[in-house]
Amino acid sequence: MTEGKIWFNGSLVDYDNATIHVLTHGLHYGTGVFEGIRCYKTVNGSMIFRLQDHMQRLIDSGKAYFMDLGFSRQQLEQAAIETVRANGMEECYVRPIAFYGYGKMGVNPMPNKVSVAIAAWKWDEYIKGSGEEKGARLMTSSWARLDPRSMPMHAKATANYANSALARVEAIKAGFDEAIMLNSAGMVVEASAENIFIVKDGALATPPTSVGALGGITRDSVIAIAQANGIRCIERDIARDELYFADEVFLTGTAAEIKPVGEIDNRNVGRDGGRPGAVTKQLKTLFEAAVHGEDEKFKSWLTPIR
Ligand code: PMP
Repeated sequence: MTEGKIWFNGSLVDYDNATIHVLTHGLHYGTGVFEGIRCYKTVNGSMIFRLQDHMQRLIDSGKAYFMDLGFSRQQLEQAAIETVRANGMEECYVRPIAFYGYGKMGVNPMPNKVSVAIAAWKWDEYIKGSGEEKGARLMTSSWARLDPRSMPMHAKATANYANSALARVEAIKAGFDEAIMLNSAGMVVEASAENIFIVKDGALATPPTSVGALGGITRDSVIAIAQANGIRCIERDIARDELYFADEVFLTGTAAEIKPVGEIDNRNVGRDGGRPGAVTKQLKTLFEAAVHGEDEKFKSWLTPIR
């Protein structure tokens, strides 16, 4: 995407005019927080999925970095709606970002004003090689996930993504689709930009966010959908080798949605050559119904853009 409108500090500007100064604090020191949101075409027009929850997480992420966003949650929600409308897309990905601006260099960000921007673009498939035939191929990264003692990992902060980028590039260069990240204690945390679930004997398990995983909104949606459909889910520590022996593994994220995993460290997942399993497929179908407004129980997750 290289055209359309971007909301920048309160007004919609042309794509090429949404620019920042080279001495922006967030660029030098990673002092930014952001969100990833999707807008779906539903039975009742375009709707933004879990907009309030995403904007609340943006505000919470900012709080960890003492950011005053200068806009209320409601104003940010309205700005996201306006951005989607202004770009005339029925379905899109929405990217709000808040960061410390320029004026005073040095590690302390506080003297700099915070800027907020919201962009929207078409983002179809995020992880390659995860079609119906065989799930995505993952490798365990040699990079440990950032430790919650070093960074506030519940915050979706730009700084955390240097760690994610190292892992993802390592995986891609090694011929895989995505990386699995362990924490310093060797427990499974998440993928570079997705949460991870395993299915064992019909029940779901996912690492608790206390290991350093982001409190994913798709993760939360999957847990709620599983609960509503009688699928048990527990949050517990997951060891690396448990992934090898799981019946099914899948990733969740706004960009990735629900991605079946077919292979981990060159071992096929499950007993069907790495093809998506029954529970993953069922959850994918239920998730699709929820985001497209076809499930009454989850209508409150959707915000119309008109
Ligand atoms: N973990 C990380 C590190 C992520 O970047 C993301 C994407 N925001 C997720 C998990 C999934 O979160 P969500 O479902 O809210 O997109």
